[in-house]
Amino acid sequence: MASTIPRRSAATVGAGSIASRMSALAILAEAEARLAPLSVATNLAWWESQVDATEENAERRTQAELEWSRALADPELFAAVTAVRDSGANGEAGRRLELLRDLMAKHQMREDLRARIVELESSVDLRFSRHRGLVGGVELGDTEIKRILRQSDDPAERREAWEASKTVGAEVADDIRELARLRNEAARTLGHRDWFALSLSVDELDELKLIETLADADRVTSEPFTRWKGAVDEKLAARFGCAVSELRPWHHADPFFQETPPEGAVDLDPLFEGHDIVALSRRTFDGLGFDVDEILAGSDLYPRDGKNQHAFCIDVDRLGDVRVLANTVQTRESAETMLHELGHAVYDLGFRDDLSWLLRSTHLVATEASALLCGSLAGRREWLELVLGVDQAEVAELGGRLEAARAAELLVFTRWVLVMNAFERALYADPEADLDAIWWELVSRYQGVTPPDGRNAPDWAAKIHIAVSPVYYHTYLYGAIVGLQLTAALESAAGGIVDRPEAGAMLREKLFAPGQSVRWDRLVEQASGSPLSVASLERAVARA
Ligand SMILES: [Zn+2]
Repeated sequence: MASTIPRRSAATVGAGSIASRMSALAILAEAEARLAPLSVATNLAWWESQVDATEENAERRTQAELEWSRALADPELFAAVTAVRDSGANGEAGRRLELLRDLMAKHQMREDLRARIVELESSVDLRFSRHRGLVGGVELGDTEIKRILRQSDDPAERREAWEASKTVGAEVADDIRELARLRNEAARTLGHRDWFALSLSVDELDELKLIETLADADRVTSEPFTRWKGAVDEKLAARFGCAVSELRPWHHADPFFQETPPEGAVDLDPLFEGHDIVALSRRTFDGLGFDVDEILAGSDLYPRDGKNQHAFCIDVDRLGDVRVLANTVQTRESAETMLHELGHAVYDLGFRDDLSWLLRSTHLVATEASALLCGSLAGRREWLELVLGVDQAEVAELGGRLEAARAAELLVFTRWVLVMNAFERALYADPEADLDAIWWELVSRYQGVTPPDGRNAPDWAAKIHIAVSPVYYHTYLYGAIVGLQLTAALESAAGGIVDRPEAGAMLREKLFAPGQSVRWDRLVEQASGSPLSVASLERAVARA
């Protein structure tokens, strides 16, 4: 297929050693002028492919991404950027050069390789969007499968639903292995060990610090998680009339055990029935001093056939066109998701006006911190009372259980991130390894889930992030930790978060406004008052 892609020269910035002829600022101005419109085109094509998953839109998206990738692949520009950066450019120009270099690094590869990767990613993504599992002979989407796993008391039906959630894995596993091989090949030509190492490097994440932080996160969550899960397992065994040792993955409340089950949480869903989740979200951000009307107007918020079944936020043009895709229903999870995505959106709208295109962007950890902080509001007492309008007595009765539920959520989430990170490290270390076995070894080690007897299937491949958002999951954990640090900082400075415009103002000023003019780890320290550390996680999970 690669040969059908028209080859165009990407080197329009100039021939010869442009570094010697152009100043840092001239290189940056020209690169930004060239990249910005391509980025808009790619984002729009991506958006269309997600709201309407047709082959035609997938093809348009592929073409737009190839063009974007081709521009970023420009070897002369890359060489010029690297040379000028390394010659000691500093200040804002130096920062922009760093970001441009990191943005371009993953695209420095042979054209056929790049084209093959883009095509494969797009094709795998399309299969995820269109795939529906079969339960009782009926095609079901992810939301329906999850509903069965949350509600059904029939172990046979649960097992069927769980297995249906994995069938997409078998469809895409070979292509994901192939993607890993191709990504590794590209990373090695750039002198990196594998795609995992390259990804961390361009994301400004230190690998040793990551390994150390994850080991710390494992250490501080291991005991409380085991204790908490032991209690949940007892309840599950009683509910399904079996021994704890007979519990299998389908007894848990979601396909990957990545969310807190009803048994370990406070079921807030009845409180959300009859509520307009989108209106609640608007109300939440109003109370923080953020106007999200325009974002909501341009968004696609409700479930529909043929659209992406998950949720995301996209900053289309870095100039105000920010959209959210969601599949909103009347549950607490949906409220959390809307608040989460809008937590990304207000960040994208909060950059200082004078920032240039390269700086009008977010680091993954900082934007996830904002999103996770906003999403967590839906489980806080002050939000239930002030925004959802639950009466004081009822909220008081929920009392400490809300904090315990939040702690449980962090435990479940942290253990799941440990699985994902270790798995992706293994995948890129050796794409030919027995990944099916590695997956279940990690799931049982970190999540304490017993694999199905004699299971021999690529269950890992059913997790869409592994294919289309590779080497990303740990940023959720970093984001959650930073979100906890920010929550504590806002509570002490503004006395709370919900309906505190001063908390919103603090976020805007300290976290959002600088864009990426400040490196993420310094930004985190600036905004939350301390560097990233698992101390906040340790404190939070102690309440489980
Ligand atoms: Zn997010």
